[in-house]
Amino acid sequence: MIDQNTYPELEPGTVPADEMTLRPRSNFVNILVLRELESHAVFTTNGEDADIATVALDAEDGSMDYAPGLMFMRKQTGSDRRFGKALQRDLGLFDEDEDECTMQVNEMCQDCVDCILYGSAASSDEGNDVSITSRVMYDTAYSLRDASVVIDEKFQNAPGDDYAKSAEATIREPDFFEPGTMFPSVVTLRDATPAELAFVLGITAKNKRYGATTSRLGRVKNRILGVYVGSEEGPANLDLTRETIARLRADDETDYETVSDIVMAEALDPSRTAEHVSDAFDAAIDTEGLDLQQVSNETVDSIVDVATSDDLAEVLTEQRDHSTTFLDQAE
Ligand SMILES: [Zn+2]
Repeated sequence: MIDQNTYPELEPGTVPADEMTLRPRSNFVNILVLRELESHAVFTTNGEDADIATVALDAEDGSMDYAPGLMFMRKQTGSDRRFGKALQRDLGLFDEDEDECTMQVNEMCQDCVDCILYGSAASSDEGNDVSITSRVMYDTAYSLRDASVVIDEKFQNAPGDDYAKSAEATIREPDFFEPGTMFPSVVTLRDATPAELAFVLGITAKNKRYGATTSRLGRVKNRILGVYVGSEEGPANLDLTRETIARLRADDETDYETVSDIVMAEALDPSRTAEHVSDAFDAAIDTEGLDLQQVSNETVDSIVDVATSDDLAEVLTEQRDHSTTFLDQAE
């Protein structure tokens, strides 16, 4: 069982399954993740250009700008939801006579654990006239290094017989993020049950594809660095990214002399970086005085074990009964 009795540490940030309520309360679970690309990936909104921001960093002689590549929150949610629905299907959670849940905005079933946790829009179907607000919050993630080192612009010559080609004959391929690019990310659950947390942890541990759905691109390793529970949200991804860069620079074990050495580095050590992301989160709790406690690694490991096994089916089946009761309050 995954509930507050089995895992009392979760109590400050979750609600018991039979106390799910439509009125928002202040129970938060923050899942700290370091996303690392294991293949090239395409994250673009216009189909061509990678999304890039300009961010100011504290540097040795004042401040400097760098241009991180972005993994928009929508890309993360979309991919995780698609994976979560497939996971439910694989676990046999949809009845034979049940229309399986889809990713079409107005055609979601509104009746599975994914729809009730991640939210769904009202549809024209009878009985589906309520919209459910998502209780999972994602935040746009920033690459630790500069776009000029993590993004590759690829051009491909258009097929043709001529030796000489005009500029227009060159096909612009979408920008590719390089393998090794890392994005510190937080996924936040509000008023979720322990079983719903297990569902999101299972998705986070197992989902390996982000970005364009086709092809072999976009392989991502999600390292779950910590789970924090309490009455508020943790730091934003941007703060976490900035603080991680500052900590990498201050690290005596590494040879970086300047902030620029880090954001322009050919590669960063993933384990070292993961430690600094965790430390950056802990430091934010201290300096901002956040009411958050870290859940022990034993507890997180134990929940992830269940969430990545077939035992998740039982957890989600029971959760679904509670989710349906919860939904009935809205109708
Ligand atoms: Zn659904």
